[in-house]
Amino acid sequence: MIQTRGYATHNPTSPLAPFTFERRDPGPHDVQIEILYCGICHTDLHQARNHWGGSMYPMVPGHEIVGRVTRVGAQVTKVKVDDYAGVGCMVDSCRRCSACNEGLEQYCQEGPTWTYNSKERGSEQLTFGGYSERVVVEERFVVKIPGSLDLKAVAPLLCAGITTYSPLRHWEVDKGQRVGIIGLGGLGHMGVKLAKAFGAHVVMVTTSPSKAKDAMRLGADEVLVSKDAAAMTRQANSFDFLLNTIPNPHDVNPYLALLKRDATMVLVGVLTALEPPVMGGSLIISRRRLAGSVIGGMPETQEMIDFCARHQIVSDVEMIPIQAVNEAYERLLKNDVRYRFVIDIASLK
Ligand code: NAP
Ligand code: ZN
Ligand code: ZN
Repeated sequence: MIQTRGYATHNPTSPLAPFTFERRDPGPHDVQIEILYCGICHTDLHQARNHWGGSMYPMVPGHEIVGRVTRVGAQVTKVKVDDYAGVGCMVDSCRRCSACNEGLEQYCQEGPTWTYNSKERGSEQLTFGGYSERVVVEERFVVKIPGSLDLKAVAPLLCAGITTYSPLRHWEVDKGQRVGIIGLGGLGHMGVKLAKAFGAHVVMVTTSPSKAKDAMRLGADEVLVSKDAAAMTRQANSFDFLLNTIPNPHDVNPYLALLKRDATMVLVGVLTALEPPVMGGSLIISRRRLAGSVIGGMPETQEMIDFCARHQIVSDVEMIPIQAVNEAYERLLKNDVRYRFVIDIASLK
């Protein structure tokens, strides 16, 4: 076993604090990664504070992990020592259901093993995430990171990147389409960059007029302030696709009204009940669709990293030492992040 230092929380209300735990020695198919950077996803905050119920403690959050490979098992072929590698939201799955067989491990019928707040398969051992020195992961759940990218800005691609890439690809967002990205945070800013790279006409749909300039810099063609009811009405029936990254229950009906006939809005942020409820009429009139999506499978995650390397797409990050993680959570709650906090894991040493 390998003694590993990290930061953990022990209940929904206590701050994250130093915590030492053990990682397994790498088995024949495992990769050991010394973590360089770990992004802070809004999910980390939801889970640490038990917003969705079922949180397990102690919890070491973090699923936007980039680091350097330091050991590999004898059977590993994907990476070698000294390569850069990434780990996202999953570290295992059943590997035999139809979803796993299609490389859609995130939809594993038995449920994937999450990088943290999960139990190792067939064991009571909790998984621990990337707010830590190192991680040991089976190679299927590791992606190769090209050294040509800015590694600290790559970390958020492992969740924010793939969570936006996958639905944009699945719903075939393409040149000439009018695409709205709702919520300019960690996910939203990656959504804007990726939708732009796919050739769409990108509209940033935001509650924050102060982010308009940034939205245009990130690649948006237009900004629509969702609190401006008259502007929302003017844009009714004009969108081919909407990607909704809002983290809290909210009224989806005004957003659905933006969709053209047969167009889809995909939710990635809200796991709990929508409040107020969805009006049937918002869907029935114009045959609109409301859908959901969770991260992406391992083959698609590698595809996304390679796409980003070709197009030089990374995240806009604000670096923090791990000692500032609690403050970063408070700023995330206050919508004060441009556009992803990333922990410099060297600060743990
Ligand atoms: P984030 O950085 O906090 O960004 C969320 C953005 O949503 C904010 O910047 C804000 O943008 C907008 N917003 C916040 N509260 C709002 C409200 N009450 N009403 C309307 N807009 C609001 O969060 P994130 O890391 O991008 O994560 C977003 C959500 O996706 C979280 O719930 C997270 O758990 C979830 N998530 C899901 C997946 C998945 O696989 N499905 C993966 C990762 C994360 P504006 O200021 O522009 O309005
Ligand atoms: Zn995440
Ligand atoms: Zn499976």
